Amino acid sequence: MQLYSTNNPALRVNFREALFQGLPSDNGLFMPSDLSVLPDSFIRNLSRFSFQDIAFTVAHTLIGAEIPASDLRGIVERAINFPAPVVLLDEHTGILELFHGPSLAFKDFGARFMAETMSYFNRGEDQELTILVATSGDTGGAVAAGFYRTPGIRVIILYPSGKVSPLQEKQLTTLGHNITALEIEGTFDDCQALVKKAFLDADLNARLRLSSANSINIARLIPQSFYYFEAFKQVSHLNKPIVFSVPSGNFGNLTAGLLASRMGLPVQHFIAATNANDVVPKYLTSGEYRPRPSVRTLSNAMDVGAPSNFARMMDLYGSTWNTIKNDISGFAFSDVETEKTLRAVDQQYHYLLDPHGVIGYLALRQYQATTKKECLGIILETAHPAKFREDMERILHRTIDIPERLAELQHRPKVSTILPADFDTFQSYLLEENT
Ligand SMILES: *Cc1c(COP(=O)(O)O)cnc(C)c1O
Repeated sequence: MQLYSTNNPALRVNFREALFQGLPSDNGLFMPSDLSVLPDSFIRNLSRFSFQDIAFTVAHTLIGAEIPASDLRGIVERAINFPAPVVLLDEHTGILELFHGPSLAFKDFGARFMAETMSYFNRGEDQELTILVATSGDTGGAVAAGFYRTPGIRVIILYPSGKVSPLQEKQLTTLGHNITALEIEGTFDDCQALVKKAFLDADLNARLRLSSANSINIARLIPQSFYYFEAFKQVSHLNKPIVFSVPSGNFGNLTAGLLASRMGLPVQHFIAATNANDVVPKYLTSGEYRPRPSVRTLSNAMDVGAPSNFARMMDLYGSTWNTIKNDISGFAFSDVETEKTLRAVDQQYHYLLDPHGVIGYLALRQYQATTKKECLGIILETAHPAKFREDMERILHRTIDIPERLAELQHRPKVSTILPADFDTFQSYLLEENT
């Protein structure tokens, strides 16, 4: 597999290098240089394949000879070991449930695939690998679970203090062993900026073997394209044009959908659904991209003011607004709308969406109201509602069930280190920890 930097098409690396570097030295993002289109027969016969077969075929097409097929099969089978079912609410609306993994959010797909590929290439290395990851909530839990007790790899998770849900915090701070949680006095954007700066810092890179696990890493993105095929497979017998509505923050999930579509998946349209952090919907309607500091909302995993994957979206479309707005529509919603619609969907369909999925639902309804085209909309349900238990119970005025594996966490003690959002302090912490 060959990848280039979005800042410099001449900067080329292979999959292994992109996996460990996370982002190119020129501060761009890695993109696959050859997005091979899957054979027509594969797309037409998707229903004959298991999710793991599909995942293997897509991964093998992208990664190529760099991981021998038999090894890649093992990686896929260990990483993608839970389902991604589509639940139909009605004939125009499906929910792609991406929360059946260990941390109950879609990020398990990316985190597990990345942990498997890193540990595959890390065999035989002497120096410990340090993974830095900034999280607005769900990344950290998935990465912690994915890398837990992986030999030769330690994981340092940065999260914004007081801005993740109590259960999310437990997922970050209770594992121990090779997993460390840093509670940063700042926003998610501050956490992300610290991590980005660490990768560009000469001192740190001279002393530590650093890697990232954020959605900027191509190994997170690749497995997120698998479930677009898997969703399509489950509804293809309905013979309707498919629209995906993607609740978005850093836009990794949406970008993975764009990759699937470039690889031949027949998607009619994509919907970029956001909360009040609406720089991408604003771009799609006005042509002007104005990143700004994030604001806090109910759907906290989407509180991103400067989405890192926007550069990849621009790269895919050659920065031409006219083309991108033909393929993607953007809509943004407030917390008030989120709460109201959460209750409405619960009453009308007896289906419990979480505060992120409901933004996808709202955006799909708005799209369907403005387009005359018949379609089946599939909303990516990015997390299990129980992850946001306090908000859910306040909104619904009743208690909700907590899955066993989450309930058990509540009794474990939180262990974290509080740090200011200051690079020098963070740098010293990393260097001292290592001595
Ligand atoms: C991370 C996350 C998102 C946003 O996904 P991006 O790929 O960053 O756009 C949405 N919902 C939930 C629950 C998440 O954890």
